[in-house]
Amino acid sequence: MGKILVLDEQLANQIAAGEVVERPASVIKELVENAVDAGSSTIDITVEEGGLNLIRVTDNGSGIPAEEIETAFQRHATSKISTSSDLFRIASLGFRGEALPSIAAVSRLECLSSTGHTGLGHKLSIEGGTITASIPAATPQGTDMTVRDLFYNTPARLKYMKAVQTELGHISDYIYRIALAHPGIAFTLKHNGNTLLRTLGTGDRLQVIAAIYGSNTAKAMMAIQGESPDYELLGYISKPELTRSNRNGITVIVNGRYIRSHAVNQALLQAYHTLLPINRFPLAIIEIGMHPSLLDVNVHPSKMEVRFSKEAELRTLVESAIQAALGKERHIPGPDSIH
Ligand code: ADP
Ligand code: MG
Repeated sequence: MGKILVLDEQLANQIAAGEVVERPASVIKELVENAVDAGSSTIDITVEEGGLNLIRVTDNGSGIPAEEIETAFQRHATSKISTSSDLFRIASLGFRGEALPSIAAVSRLECLSSTGHTGLGHKLSIEGGTITASIPAATPQGTDMTVRDLFYNTPARLKYMKAVQTELGHISDYIYRIALAHPGIAFTLKHNGNTLLRTLGTGDRLQVIAAIYGSNTAKAMMAIQGESPDYELLGYISKPELTRSNRNGITVIVNGRYIRSHAVNQALLQAYHTLLPINRFPLAIIEIGMHPSLLDVNVHPSKMEVRFSKEAELRTLVESAIQAALGKERHIPGPDSIH
């Protein structure tokens, strides 16, 4: 064994990238979440070859001040938290300051950004973690991130990438969820020149549901709503006759973040109970709002899992809100009740 040394930043970033950047969809998730955090009203995502050739995320958000762009790509650099107490009231999607340096360590990245104040922005180019250009550049307000040749310098990871369709499946799945979480933002997703999703950003979640699942599905959804002392709940669920063969149609959103929650899923299925045929699942978009202090999002780097401090209260709320909607529905004779 050699002497104990602290790893240089580039190597540390490459190691961290293994955790944060699992596949093209993780790059998209991080870039889009940054765009949401920047207060954007439009976010355009362009992808080529399942994201392995090119990923581009363009937003019209706050932009990054020219003098801070290089810092943004340093490890643990973030504008979203600054004290440890901030960690217990996180209102943004990001806060770990790990995404940009990790992505830049395993790709050829170009960041163009402007805060719109001076009319001039800045362009930073990074290859495998090394800055190759940092120059003023004319660009509209917002940020335009282009990631090329993902994993070009980590061949072992590249080997694990699946077919273009599989990677694209992960990407579109994520974009659908974030679009459902943020109906007030206009999203477009393009792959190899084809538009796969366009939402209008009007704030109407049914429009987003229609854009993703089709307008007939959107028409067959029921609104849900409820509140308890600590939680607020809003969303849409499918009528019992509209079911799917898996749980993928269930989207849980907590304080603007798409998450996976076994507890919420269980409460949802419990509420449908015998209304669902065996091994069939509803389509549901459940948005939960709460004070950030009641939520721990610092469980995993991907922030897909969270801990609720009052989980039992939340389960009861989900179950009762859904039962209330289904109860109303049952009074209307549908095709099922005729047989
Ligand atoms: P985090 O999101 O956890 O803060 P990131 O590495 O993703 O860390 O980003 C670092 C910082 O760069 C952010 O805190 C933010 O200040 C800035 N930033 C990144 N992307 C954008 C963007 N699209 N618009 C504005 N600022 C951005
Ligand atoms: Mg981030």
